[in-house]
Amino acid sequence: MKRFWGRSVCLVVVLSTLPVASATGAASANRLQKMFYLKGIFSDRLVCYFAHRPSFDLQSAQSSGKRKQATIAIQTNLDTAICKDALERCNAPKNQTYHLSVANEAGCMHIAVAYDPQKIGIDCRRITSKNDKHGIIVQFNHKKRLGRLNERSNPLHRLASGTRTPHIVIDCGHGDSDTGTIGCGGVQEKEVNRSVGMHLASLLRKRGYNVFLTRKDDEHVALEERVLFANREISGDLFVSIHANAAANVKASGIETFYCSDSVFSDPLFTDTPTELSEKSNSFARDKGQASQLFADYVQRSVLDTLATQQYRVNDRRAKQEPFRVLLGTDMPAVLVELGFLTNEQEAQRLQDTQYQSALAEGISRGIASYVKFVQHA
Ligand SMILES: [Zn+2]
Repeated sequence: MKRFWGRSVCLVVVLSTLPVASATGAASANRLQKMFYLKGIFSDRLVCYFAHRPSFDLQSAQSSGKRKQATIAIQTNLDTAICKDALERCNAPKNQTYHLSVANEAGCMHIAVAYDPQKIGIDCRRITSKNDKHGIIVQFNHKKRLGRLNERSNPLHRLASGTRTPHIVIDCGHGDSDTGTIGCGGVQEKEVNRSVGMHLASLLRKRGYNVFLTRKDDEHVALEERVLFANREISGDLFVSIHANAAANVKASGIETFYCSDSVFSDPLFTDTPTELSEKSNSFARDKGQASQLFADYVQRSVLDTLATQQYRVNDRRAKQEPFRVLLGTDMPAVLVELGFLTNEQEAQRLQDTQYQSALAEGISRGIASYVKFVQHA
C-alpha cells in the first residue's frame, strides 16, 4: 500500500460518524476465510468472508490530486494466499478508474482504494446470513453506467419485455481439481452437477431458450469468471447454479434452492456515492433479490412436483436465502439448486442414476419455463 500511495500527499480524515474500533485486541484473531472480486454491470464488488463478525476502522481521505482515497481497516490477519486471486483481479491494469491495495498493518487488514470520484462511488456494507456467515462487501459503483440505468435499460426488465429470446446461464458447480463434495462410494459432486446441467441445457434449448454454460467440460472456471461471463459476456436473463450437498449428518437429505436478497446487507458502513445513484443501486439490488426469491420458489416447487409425479419421495428443504458468491455477484435473478446430499447413501445412488438426473433437469427446466411465463404475463 505504501508503494502505491508513495507520491500523493494526503490528509487522512477519520469520519466521526462511523464506528471506530481499536486495531488491536481479541478480534484481530478473526480469520479471513475467503475474498472475491466480482465484476458486475453497474458495480464491481470486493467480498470478504470472516469466521466471526468483523470489526472495522473506517477512514476516508481526500488526496491532493484528482483522485480520492479511502481506507477500510478490518480487524483480521490477512492471509495473502487466500486473497491472491482476488488481488490479482482487482489490480489488473485494465482497471483504470480505481485501484485497490490490500495489506497488513499493525495486525489489521487495510483495504485502500484510490479512485476517480467522477467515475466511481464506493459503498461498504456488512453481510450477515441466518447461517451465521459474516462478511463485508465493498461495492465500486460505476457512476456513468448507474446514471444510465432506467426503466428501459434495466436488465431485470428485459425478460418481461420479451424483446429477445431469454438468455439462460447454467452454472455447473466446481470442475477439474475442484471436485466439490466427494460422497458415498467416492462419487464426485462436479460430475453430478455437470450431468444434470448438460441435460438441463438440452431441455431448455428444446423449449427455445438461448442457453449458455459457464463450463461444458471437466475444467476449472473460477467463480469470478462465471459471474463475469453471465454479467458482461452474455448479459444473462436468468442464472442457475447446479450443486449437490454434503453434511456431517449422513441422514440429511433433500433438495433446496438458494437465492440472495438484499436483506443480507446492512446499511452502508461507509458510502461515497451520491444519494441518487445510491438509490438506483439499492433499488436494483432490491428488485434483483425479490425476483431471485420468486425464481427460487418456482424452481424448488417445480423440481419437487416433477419428482413426485415420477414417484420419487424427497425431502423438501425449500427455497432459502444465502449470500453465496455467484448469487451476490450476478446482475440477474439467480438461484443455486442443491440437488441432494451426496453424503446420504440413498441420495448419492439416486444422483448418479441417469433417470433421476433427467427428472431433476426436467423439474428445473419446468420451473424456469413457469417463471418466464409468469414474468412475461404479469
Ligand atoms: Zn458445490
